Amino acid sequence: MMAVTQLKTAARSATTDAEDITETVRAILADIAAEGEDAARRYADRFDGYDGNLILTRDEIDAAGAQVSAQLKDDIRYAYENIRTFAEAQKATIGDFEIEVRPGLFAGQRAIPCNAAGCYVPGGRYAHIASAMMTVTTAKVAGCRHIVACSPPQKGQGVHPAIVYTADLCGADAILAMGGVQGVAAMANGLFGLPRADILVGPGNQFVAEAKRLLFGQVGIDMFAGPTDSLILADDSADPEFVAWDLVGQAEHGYNSPVWLVTDDRALAERVMDRVPALIASLPELNRRNAAAAWRDHAEIFLCDSPEDMAALSDRIAPEHLHVQARDLDWWLGRLSCYGSLFLGEETTVAFGDKASGTNHVLPTSGAARYTGGLSVHKYMKLVTWQRAMPQAVLPLAEATARISRLEGMEGHARTADIRVEKYAALHRGD
Ligand code: NAD
Repeated sequence: MMAVTQLKTAARSATTDAEDITETVRAILADIAAEGEDAARRYADRFDGYDGNLILTRDEIDAAGAQVSAQLKDDIRYAYENIRTFAEAQKATIGDFEIEVRPGLFAGQRAIPCNAAGCYVPGGRYAHIASAMMTVTTAKVAGCRHIVACSPPQKGQGVHPAIVYTADLCGADAILAMGGVQGVAAMANGLFGLPRADILVGPGNQFVAEAKRLLFGQVGIDMFAGPTDSLILADDSADPEFVAWDLVGQAEHGYNSPVWLVTDDRALAERVMDRVPALIASLPELNRRNAAAAWRDHAEIFLCDSPEDMAALSDRIAPEHLHVQARDLDWWLGRLSCYGSLFLGEETTVAFGDKASGTNHVLPTSGAARYTGGLSVHKYMKLVTWQRAMPQAVLPLAEATARISRLEGMEGHARTADIRVEKYAALHRGD
């Protein structure tokens, strides 16, 4: 029996502010499916006040790069190399294989990348340089032949120069200056001369997430993402100042981003609760508003009796980001089983993974870590199978297939086996 006391409750549940955006998104998608590029341009103008060039030229890409400082370029390259190194190691774990299932019956697997990937790079509230690195780099390492990066233009201007520079560095073949539903639909439908996307990946707001969800089937998607969330597991060895900042840093994502602290040390919990408001107050205005609302409405603090109870509660929440600031990190690594990405020890922090350490930041939210991991090279790869049978393997295979098919009532299937029984039984007999 898990012993848990709740020291801070969320004022609102995660679903309280779920707006009914499905109809809005469905209407935009229908208009774009019917009218194509004209409708997409109209929505770009309406939502982002942009009527400039949509597919960036080489000159525009180079001009954007010239606006990025040398220091930022170095930082982007540092992060990009880490992300590429990690993605290449992931790629090496997926392989083709062939086995002889029975004598003369061969079957195999091939890992084939999707042909065209559409990478959404959010750009509304913040300039998400890191999302360009996470999505485009993994698509490139996977081996996708056409990679489109799509990001909203800033009002009356183009895509943020650092996003353009990053998407180009990481291997985008085209950059589309269009955001939201219209950007996603343009990639899915192959508008503006772009290849029709086979898979759409990347984070975004509720409109972007809903557009991907509604288009799923027509196109593959990485996952359906809700607001970003983070959980910290801390014992009495944790530094309350680090824990408080790490909660605030993640609450900054958005007004509805849940953060949780799970601890077995009441004194630590109380010090963190005291400290967080002052840290939030020290942030710039937009960040402060997001973090304050997230802390008030969606933050929870739990006091547990033991590390085992802390781990069980964490697994039940299945957070997107999980940070352990406690003793015996190896025990936690072995024990925890539901999270998008795990951060072990105070020496690392979720922001490292969000921006630069190499693991992907496109991760399962809202408890989806119960059944999936985040964006990886694997998401772009189709694990397909093949088979081939030598003549001596045909008879038992065909006879078993015919009997199973008849029991299922599938006579047509059974006949495809029967004709092979007839031919290969004769061969067996040497007729
Ligand atoms: P965004 O790029 O996702 O969305 C901007 C677009 O939203 C605009 O171009 C516009 O077309 C559309 N839009 C805005 N209001 C609309 C309306 N009323 N009707 C229809 N369309 C509308 O940028 P954002 O809004 O700043 O959101 C970024 C999101 O990305 C956040 O939710 C953030 O949490 C998420 N994010 C997640 C991760 C992660 O890995 N989990 C990383 C980075 C960003």
